[in-house]
Amino acid sequence: MTDSQASQVANNDSSSEEQAANDERAANMDKENVVLRVEDLVKSFGALVATDHASFEVERGTIMGLIGPNGAGKSTLFNLISGFYESDAGRVTVNGTDVTDMEPYEIADHGLIRTFQTPRKLEGMTVREAMLVGPREQPGESFIKLFTDPESVREREQRNLKDAQEILEDFEIDHLATQPATKISGGQLKLVELARAMLAEPEILLLDEPAAGVNPTLRKKLAEQIRRLNEQGTTFLLIEHDMEFVMSLADPVIVLDRGHVLMEGTPDEVQNDEGVIDAYLGG
Ligand code: ADP
Ligand code: MG
Repeated sequence: MTDSQASQVANNDSSSEEQAANDERAANMDKENVVLRVEDLVKSFGALVATDHASFEVERGTIMGLIGPNGAGKSTLFNLISGFYESDAGRVTVNGTDVTDMEPYEIADHGLIRTFQTPRKLEGMTVREAMLVGPREQPGESFIKLFTDPESVREREQRNLKDAQEILEDFEIDHLATQPATKISGGQLKLVELARAMLAEPEILLLDEPAAGVNPTLRKKLAEQIRRLNEQGTTFLLIEHDMEFVMSLADPVIVLDRGHVLMEGTPDEVQNDEGVIDAYLGG
């Protein structure tokens, strides 16, 4: 039993009000310091437990690294947090709001955006058009507005276009804007994915192996962009296989092993931990 559970039992009769006050205090503290809280998440696929009571917090303003051997459940965790999978148990809170049962677009509205390990195919679109298929887009909404309020739809489209152009410039890839999205390199596509995610102005951005398949030059650029965005206030949770990449960017780093958080520490602590080394060798 945790301390808070024990005090709940002790106070059981006198204090549902007190408990509510405590919950509210915790929620307010979350709003200030913790962007993402994952509590006791569980997810099984048949007999396989992919997420096994995973718990951790991401503090505002940090770049948190999430590492672990292949199949440890890193991508599954992202799918659970961002609402693409339904968890069997546990809770996810974004800025103090319980988002556990929300749809991905609702969670995005609360400020949490994720990218995919394998970016979606963007056939028949230019890079600029692909940018505008925003993660916050809700089907139907703008269609109805097109009849009721065409002027505001036009204005919003103009603004989105301008924002997309600015972000492409920030990322120094505006020269790709009119290229077919299928014609750019895998590395450039990863940068476009990051740029596109930023268009939704996330408070926390979850990146799933952003450096995978990216050449060293673009990889450096990607790291610079993540650092720059972090300095401007975006919090990151970063899955990455490339140790040099993640260790140079992230602090703290958490290690996932068989769906469970094995440890959390500084890059140095993690790299020198026997348990972590064993997990990688065993995996
Ligand atoms: P990681 O990203 O750490 O490499 P994953 O989260 O992709 O690991 O996978 C963790 C485990 O869950 C793996 O054994 C994988 O095969 C399994 N898994 C992931 N998604 C599914 C799914 N949709 N259906 C069945 N098994 C899955
Ligand atoms: Mg993965």
